[in-house]
Amino acid sequence: MLIKENENLRGRVQQLEISLQQRAEQLSQLESKSEQREWRRGEELRQREDRVRELELELNKERGKEPVVKYVTQTVEVESPATVRQLTKARQRNEVLSERLSSQNERCKQLEEQIRKSDEYSCNLQHKIAAYEREIGKLREELLKEIGHLEERKEEAVKAAASCSAEHFQNLQDQFFTLQKRLTALPPTLRSMKTDYASLRSQVRNFSEFYGAAINEAKKQISAAISEMSEANKDLLEKYRKEVALRRKLHEQLVELKGNIRVLCRVKPVLKEDQHEEGQSVVVTTDPNNESSLTVMNKGKNRSFELDKVFQPHATQEEVFQEIEPLVTSCIDGYHVCIFAYGQTGSGKTYTMEGSVENPGINQRALKHLFSEIEERKDMWSYTVTVSSVEIYNEVLRDLLSKDGEKLDIKINPDGTGQLHVPGLRVIEVRSFQHIKKILATARRNRITFGTQMNQHSSRSHALLCITVQGTDLASGSKTTGKMNLVDLAGSERVWKSGAEGERLKEAQNINRSLLALGDVIQALRGRHTHIPFRNSRLTYLLQDSLGKGSKTVMVVQVSALERNLGETLCSLKFAQRVCKVELGPAARKIESGGGLCD
Ligand code: ADP
Ligand code: MG
Repeated sequence: MLIKENENLRGRVQQLEISLQQRAEQLSQLESKSEQREWRRGEELRQREDRVRELELELNKERGKEPVVKYVTQTVEVESPATVRQLTKARQRNEVLSERLSSQNERCKQLEEQIRKSDEYSCNLQHKIAAYEREIGKLREELLKEIGHLEERKEEAVKAAASCSAEHFQNLQDQFFTLQKRLTALPPTLRSMKTDYASLRSQVRNFSEFYGAAINEAKKQISAAISEMSEANKDLLEKYRKEVALRRKLHEQLVELKGNIRVLCRVKPVLKEDQHEEGQSVVVTTDPNNESSLTVMNKGKNRSFELDKVFQPHATQEEVFQEIEPLVTSCIDGYHVCIFAYGQTGSGKTYTMEGSVENPGINQRALKHLFSEIEERKDMWSYTVTVSSVEIYNEVLRDLLSKDGEKLDIKINPDGTGQLHVPGLRVIEVRSFQHIKKILATARRNRITFGTQMNQHSSRSHALLCITVQGTDLASGSKTTGKMNLVDLAGSERVWKSGAEGERLKEAQNINRSLLALGDVIQALRGRHTHIPFRNSRLTYLLQDSLGKGSKTVMVVQVSALERNLGETLCSLKFAQRVCKVELGPAARKIESGGGLCD
């Protein structure tokens, strides 16, 4: 700022000096002009004075000539007419001359006047010049003052700037000194840093060498550990396989202990809608302390039945499924499993097998368990699940998964295994539990449709859901095939007793025959007979490879607790007892004589 101000001031001083010079030039011009004028006036004055003197001389000359003219006149008067003429001429000449003289005088006066005026003018001019000179003097004084003033300010500014820059300079110097100090201190630090860097570099080099060696060592160790591990893994896998085999064996033993064929009884709770009719008193009682017995009150007498398991009327769907769950597991392990719901119409067979939307039964729960079990084993096993669903009505087989419900036949598989198969049966591969839900809904819907087409027969037909589980051991590649048949049997009530005829009677006889055949087969199996009469009905024939040796069967016998169903309840329980008693023997159980369906 100071430098700038200083420059400004310098500029201003220069300007002032320039204007001063201009003024001085103007003054000198004015002076020369006034000198010229004065000189010209003096010249004019001198010329006029010369002229006046000339004129005075001429006048004096003329005046000196006068006596000659008088003489001439006198001479003319005296002498002759020639002289008179000369005289008049002279007179005329005289007049002219006097006229001239007067005009010269006039002129002289005018010139004098002019001189006086030009004197006045020159006097004025001199006054003006003096005034100018005074003004110039004043201006010069002012200018000088101004210059002095500016000079002072300039000095002040220069001084201030100098002091300021001195301060700044001092600061800079200080900074410079400190920097210098620091700079002098830097080299040793730099040197130490350099040595540090060099040592670090060598360390890094050493480290990478060491690291490489360590990595190699670690690699060796890891590969050793891996081979050790894989060895151990092989061991473990072997152990696991043994364990699985043992588990399977133990499971088998457990199921066998419980009985490969188990008969369970579910007592239907008394529902609100059942209470409006007659015969609503409860005749069936269960013993909370004995899970395998139930008592039926008949004509004032209590009759007890011993079964593998009796569910209380309030038993939940989940509780019922808990008894089935081990069979689902063994199906994944490659066993053949059959689950039947047996009982009179309305006793809860469909409820137990299918259940309701909010409270699903064995079918859905079994499949859910199946898929969760498959998910758990996915690291060791891969599984393929397929389902089919058929209905047997009047000894005719129909596909519940195809819309037209075509009749199907059971044939010996041409592959030479001796196993049965149903040509044309729709078999669907299931990938998830959600998928199976849709398939079950289709089967249910088709069963209802066929029912309305054919004399509403749902209670007089057997509905089968067949699930096949094919497993592959991912390690060994060995395969297993498990099968699970979930069967909602036709109502076991004795229709012919109410005097049914024709088609209705034939239907009843067919049901009777197939249920009887089922009872016979189960009884023969439980009794370990050599001949099992599978061929006596379509149902047993179809289920032949799932009911045979090594397979597991659960029969859920559904009974009503109400008095009005007493007859059917007794029949169902007798049927249950018949298939139940055989294997466990008379010592462990109370043996009922008689068998088959109630006559
Ligand atoms: P079935 O198939 O043997 O003819 P359902 O399963 O159709 O008999 O059962 C008849 C009625 O009784 C249905 O409305 C069903 O919901 C009901 N029901 C059966 N068992 C139970 C139970 N344990 N709890 C509640 N309701 C039941
Ligand atoms: Mg039903």
